[in-house]
Amino acid sequence: MSAATRSGRSRRAPDKLCVEAVELARAAAEETALPGTVGEHIEAVAEGDRVVTHYFACLQPAYRGWRWATTVARASRAKVVTLDESVLLPGPDSLLAPEWVPWSERLRPGDLGPGDLLPTDADDLRLEPGFSGEDTPPPNSAVSEEAATAAAEAEAPPEQAPEDVTPAPSRGSVKAVAEELGMGRARVLSRYGLQEAADRWEESHGPRTAMAQAAPGPCVSCAFLVPLAGSLKQGFGVCANEFSPADGRVVSLAFGCGGHSEAAVMPKAPQPPAPVLDETRNDELSLAD
Ligand code: SF4
Repeated sequence: MSAATRSGRSRRAPDKLCVEAVELARAAAEETALPGTVGEHIEAVAEGDRVVTHYFACLQPAYRGWRWATTVARASRAKVVTLDESVLLPGPDSLLAPEWVPWSERLRPGDLGPGDLLPTDADDLRLEPGFSGEDTPPPNSAVSEEAATAAAEAEAPPEQAPEDVTPAPSRGSVKAVAEELGMGRARVLSRYGLQEAADRWEESHGPRTAMAQAAPGPCVSCAFLVPLAGSLKQGFGVCANEFSPADGRVVSLAFGCGGHSEAAVMPKAPQPPAPVLDETRNDELSLAD
């Protein structure tokens, strides 16, 4: 009989003989439990026709709130109550282990250490197929045959070019275009993956952070900002100011800090004038005795 069945409350009237079999149930519980750990009888619950579970308090300190549950049963028209089973079950107030969570959901940023491997799902939403050079890209893709042909035509030498001039090798090929766009990988970031990254960076180094609110200017006008490539460059860059707390981080163009290159330009120290040599008169020097 399952624990779920045991913990449920039946509306049936419990069988009288089964309810009276408290000592039989207690003996079974004591046989299963450690000596002296079966406490007082708590209740008798009908599980079905002529099937009753007796609950006893568990006195083990480590199992506070748990209960010994012994199920007894009686055959139809029989006068004898027999033992079914005896187990330890959690009660309504017992301390339980939290629900198990798979490691992939427990993982947090920063958990990955040197030598660790973090597998990605084959259907990871953050990723989508890239272009390896062997497959055919979709017709509307930036590396489609049409786009590659157009690129090749643009790269092709003029018709009147001398014959001994060798045209540039395969710059317009689909594979070359894919590599130039950074798509020559088995998988690339999907739109969802890009959006997730942008949200994260916006939160950590975006215009709503305290640092940005107090900054003298936004990163977009700072000389220390290194632009990104791809669609993310519209909103983000990398800070390259070693004195900024965001050095080496991806920052929103609307982020900012006190290290902004144009916030306070130090004036150059004034140069002392060149020494003047007066050659028109002599200085009299007193000689020592
Ligand atoms: S120094 Fe400050 S303002 Fe300039 S790019 Fe870095 S974070 Fe932005």
